[in-house]
Amino acid sequence: MEFEAIAQSLVEAGRFLASQGWAPATSGNYSARLAEGQVAITMSGRDKGQLTPADIMVVDGQGQPRVAGQRSSAETLLHTSLYGAYPEVGAVLHTHSIDSVSLSRWLLGRGQDRLVLTNYELLKALPGITTHDGEVAVPIVANSQDMVALSETVLTRLEALPAPVGYIIAGHGLYSWGATVSQARVATEALEVLVSCALQALLLDQKFA
Ligand SMILES: [Zn+2]
Repeated sequence: MEFEAIAQSLVEAGRFLASQGWAPATSGNYSARLAEGQVAITMSGRDKGQLTPADIMVVDGQGQPRVAGQRSSAETLLHTSLYGAYPEVGAVLHTHSIDSVSLSRWLLGRGQDRLVLTNYELLKALPGITTHDGEVAVPIVANSQDMVALSETVLTRLEALPAPVGYIIAGHGLYSWGATVSQARVATEALEVLVSCALQALLLDQKFA
């Protein structure tokens, strides 16, 4: 029963994220923690705008499929390593929005390995944030096809933060999370909108400098 309910919530969150244009060309992946160290996660290559519970599979804590022959995302390790390091994380959502992809690529290309968000009311949608004038740092890491190395880099960067809410892989996309799928969905939506605001602010600065 637990799997069916969680799979349904991942389907609904995934369809919403895709509806925002944040999962182009079957990209992105979504997961949630199950009992006994297992993880429900989207299968590789599925259209995120048309997800159904049949597109959700189960992997163990190391990302290995519980049903032989099923294939999860190539980025499964980026999900399972977060569950391993952060017991409070119950769901992880990964998007490939145009704004997070392009802004992170531009910033890292200029040596800036984090995006600092401040003075946005929507920051209060993130866990533990109660005012607009706090600061939320979102690490930007270089993209890689080596998931072991990439997950180690991500965990190192997150460990340096008091309360990490997400990170961006440059030129690739955003990872965010929450205690539940619905909380992860709110955090992901908030961060995507905040990234777009940061990009707009940068463009305005350049236009009127
Ligand atoms: Zn990705």
